[in-house]
Amino acid sequence: MESEITTDASTYVGRFAPSPTGPLHLGSLVAAVGSWLDARRHGGRWAVRIDDVDRTRAVTGADATILRSLEAHGLTWDGPVVYQRERDEQYAAALQRLIDAGHAFPCACTRRELRAVARHGPAGMIYPGTCRDGLPPGREARSWRMRAADMTLEFEDRRLGRQRVAMAAEIGDFIIRRGDGLFAYHLAMAVDDADLGVTDIVRGADLLIATAPQMALRDALGLHRPRHLHLPLAISTAGTKLSKQTAAPAVDDAQASRNLVTVLAILGLSAPKELAGAPPGELLAWAVDHWAPAALPEGDIRVA
Ligand code: GLU
Repeated sequence: MESEITTDASTYVGRFAPSPTGPLHLGSLVAAVGSWLDARRHGGRWAVRIDDVDRTRAVTGADATILRSLEAHGLTWDGPVVYQRERDEQYAAALQRLIDAGHAFPCACTRRELRAVARHGPAGMIYPGTCRDGLPPGREARSWRMRAADMTLEFEDRRLGRQRVAMAAEIGDFIIRRGDGLFAYHLAMAVDDADLGVTDIVRGADLLIATAPQMALRDALGLHRPRHLHLPLAISTAGTKLSKQTAAPAVDDAQASRNLVTVLAILGLSAPKELAGAPPGELLAWAVDHWAPAALPEGDIRVA
């Protein structure tokens, strides 16, 4: 964990990467504000990427709604918005490199087959290895998987400290191209963040579990490892994460200042009373001055 902010301003690149499955809600606004503040405090760049690699989940118009909300909350971005759906060529090239280097193998298994036999780890089903050494006779490849090395992957999280993940035992061989032909989120992420030159990933703690597979992919592709800061999650009083999956309400853009005060409190910053009704730009300027990742709450935060 850190005590001060030391990155060279000219090299910091952060990003916010919402999936366009619905409007911004309080949980995603926490990730947006946290990553924006960290980037601005470092004098760095902040990119926005629409994570729509999974077309089956993208909701038409959700990207525009999200961008409007970011604007309403004063969260200005640098450069053009990047869309994953325009980047299949880059993902295909990365997949080919993984295949050529022996890191990826074709898999014939269906989810239903795996459900019957697979163990469950912290990130879901752990692949039992059926196609690892070749497709079973008479079966055709559906998807591609990344071989999980028999090693412990270690990385530092700026809030949560040293993380150790036993790749084979806890994650297993994971999907990088799906049975329906779409590239998987981990592969897209690893390639996109590298192409954007992202130095710092700041996102919700629900994605801590995604970090090890994404790092394994970067290592295998010879891409740099960004720093990570996983933010506390906003959870409902019932104890569930505020997300689109739990039908968290959309943030009301007309209440941007009030939303920001709530989000800043989740990020450990209590805005002074006299700023309560201030416009977003003023609240954010105060927050940049006071941003202190070392003071982030250790646990998740309940909001009404
Ligand atoms: N698109 C992912 C999501 O909305 C976030 C990706 C990331 O920040 O790494 O959950």
